[in-house]
Amino acid sequence: MATIKALEGRTVHQIQSGQVIVDLCSVVKELVENSLDAQATSIEVRFKNNGLDTIEVQDNGVGISSENYETIALKHYTSKLSNYDDLSSLQTFGFRGEALSSLCALSKFHVITARADEAPKGTRLDFEASGKLKGIQVIASQRGTTVDVEDLFMNLPVRRRELEKNIKREYGKVLGMLQAYACISTQARISVSNMAKGKKTTVFATKSSQSTRENIANVFGAKALPGLVTMDLNFEMQPTKTYSQLSERENKQVRVLGHVSRPMFGEGRHAPDRQMFFVNTRPCGLPQVAKVFNEVYKSYNISQSPFVFANILLDTNAYDVNVSPDKRTILLHEQNTLLDALRGSLTDLFENQDQTVPQSQR
Ligand code: ADP
Ligand code: MG
Repeated sequence: MATIKALEGRTVHQIQSGQVIVDLCSVVKELVENSLDAQATSIEVRFKNNGLDTIEVQDNGVGISSENYETIALKHYTSKLSNYDDLSSLQTFGFRGEALSSLCALSKFHVITARADEAPKGTRLDFEASGKLKGIQVIASQRGTTVDVEDLFMNLPVRRRELEKNIKREYGKVLGMLQAYACISTQARISVSNMAKGKKTTVFATKSSQSTRENIANVFGAKALPGLVTMDLNFEMQPTKTYSQLSERENKQVRVLGHVSRPMFGEGRHAPDRQMFFVNTRPCGLPQVAKVFNEVYKSYNISQSPFVFANILLDTNAYDVNVSPDKRTILLHEQNTLLDALRGSLTDLFENQDQTVPQSQR
């Protein structure tokens, strides 16, 4: 019988890292969120070979100060959160200090960074798989940070093979997610490019200081706009049960801001997935909310599904982001109450829309 042995520290780190960085999407999400947290107004996401070879995210944010070089890639080191109580009032995307540390364990990884007072001089940082800083080199750099991830999952052969096999689908999923960040980020220009077979293609690019509507036009094309109605729904979550998780101190007011297809102007039965949801501007998957949008829409237009861009603004105590490592799953405490109110409010919006087919669609 085999004896029970403790796993080596390195193995434990690798296993845990694989739970934070599960796929191509999680890499890109973590890096883009770091750039947004660094107050970047320009973010360039560059893939080589759909991300199989490299994923590079360059921003013009505040950069990393030299006293943090040693710790940025160590597990649970973060400059963003100092104790658990801060979590509810958190304004940044990151708070676990796990992304860079995980990427060190799962790829060939380096960072180039320059603070405003250092540029055009910057620093290249190289790390060991453990996250320990192993090299510092002065090189030319504009203000901001560039993170380079090469050969993702190179040391997890099964995961690497999966990635190679499913790269088309994975890459498509990444683009869908990046579209959501690009549309919601009114403060930052986000551009996405891919280098494949020696040819560089710009997938899409937004500009900085633009409205979400202008961002949508830049990502999906200007022809998407006439079909969209601006939505600004306001309602209150009225708990129906006597026992409710909504405490007195919580604000029950909900506002849903965004854009949705006019009833006669959907995306077509087999249209690509163009539905984006946000909670307090944080992109997230909200299947139950999506279902309400699709159901209400279907009662006006049975054959099509709507384009949806919906930013749900609500009290930070009314939901929980700390449920999954990727923070994409959001737990709404009063989900059913919210869904009912949303359904009613959305029906009112569509009731008041012109039901005739627009000129351009005839
Ligand atoms: P978290 O975002 O949870 O703090 P990360 O592992 O993603 O953890 O990043 C670790 C730290 O590295 C951050 O707290 C931040 O100080 C620094 N950092 C990472 N990316 C950037 C960036 N693009 N610009 C500036 N600082 C960054
Ligand atoms: Mg982070």
